[in-house]
Parts: sequence; C-alpha cells; structure tokens
Amino acid sequence: MIEDTWEKMGADPMAKGYSFRKIGMPNPDMNTISECRVLCEQNLCGVYGLTWGCPPGVGSGEECLAAVASFSKAALITRKYEKIDTGDKELLERLGIEHREVCRRFGNALRREGFRVLPLADGGCRYCRECTYPGSPCRFPDQRVPSISGFGIFMDKYMKSQNIDFSFEKNSATLYGLILYDEPRFGK
Ligand code: SF4
Repeated sequence: MIEDTWEKMGADPMAKGYSFRKIGMPNPDMNTISECRVLCEQNLCGVYGLTWGCPPGVGSGEECLAAVASFSKAALITRKYEKIDTGDKELLERLGIEHREVCRRFGNALRREGFRVLPLADGGCRYCRECTYPGSPCRFPDQRVPSISGFGIFMDKYMKSQNIDFSFEKNSATLYGLILYDEPRFGK
C-alpha cells in the first residue's frame, strides 16, 4: 500500500515535516487545460518554455489529459513553512527544488515497489543543471517532475473539492506534491 511506502520515506531527512494523505483523482478537462495554458504563457514562474516539465514541452492538452486519465489513484504530500519571508525569491527557489526532490524520491520509491506513478509539483522540473528542452528528448523521463498546472489542474479548486484548506497565510508557504499512481498489479 502507498501508505507503507510513505512510512518508509520517514527515514529520508528530506521528507521530514511533510504530511501525506490519499485524495480523490483530479478531473481536468480541455477547458481547464486551456485556462491553465493561458496563465502559464504569462510566465510568472519564469520557467515557461524552458523544460520538458512545463508547457508547451510537457505535452499537448490531449496528451496531458490522457496521462492523468491513465491513473486510478492520487495522493497528496504537503509541507508548510511558517515564519518565512515569502518575498525572498532565492529561499522560495531553494524550497521548491527540495520539494520537487521529495516528490521525485517518493515516486522512485513507489516505482521500486511496482507502482506506476506520475509525481507532479510546480515550478518546473529542474532535475538537470540544464534541461535538454527543446533540442533533445528528456534525459531522465523517470526523474521528471512536471508542473501540476501543465496538466490542467487548478490546485485551489481541486483542494476545495477534497475539503483541503488552500488559503494563503502571511509569512507562510505550503508546497504541494500530487502523486498519481496505480497499485502494483500483483500484490504488494
Ligand atoms: S529530467 Fe532533466 S531533461 Fe528531463 S525535464 Fe527534467 S530537467 Fe529536463
């Protein structure tokens, strides 16, 4: 069960402070994909068009919807940072990189146990020093942590549908990792 794999992640210092819960599947559609892509094109995060983890490299709307629909289950990992300077871009960048690494490690742990998995976060993949986009294919497809919004998922609405608080608080930031997965076919 995915809970067992998450429990084992407790031995990883990077996973300290995280919460885990199973949630319902997101249900993006062509409308939400289109809305998300318009927002992504504004490039407020600064990584639009720079990696295979963000639009447009992450895939067409149809491809991304098909990828989400190919999974049957979802889990959420979150970490809340309190009393931080949310205007400190370097700090937020570092926390984002660490967060995507936790999502990546959890995805890898699940794969080792036979799960099929797609870990999603926000802010671009950033696994490689330099992404191969757009000249060559992704160097490490299994290590790619694509953007949640690239898949047409509005986290505020999705979290609301799951009765999860998504409010912003002064001097704090919560990072979300969405893990789409299928249980191993034969036991475990
Ligand atoms: S794994 Fe490397 S090549 Fe692939 S999307 Fe991430 S940064 Fe780019």
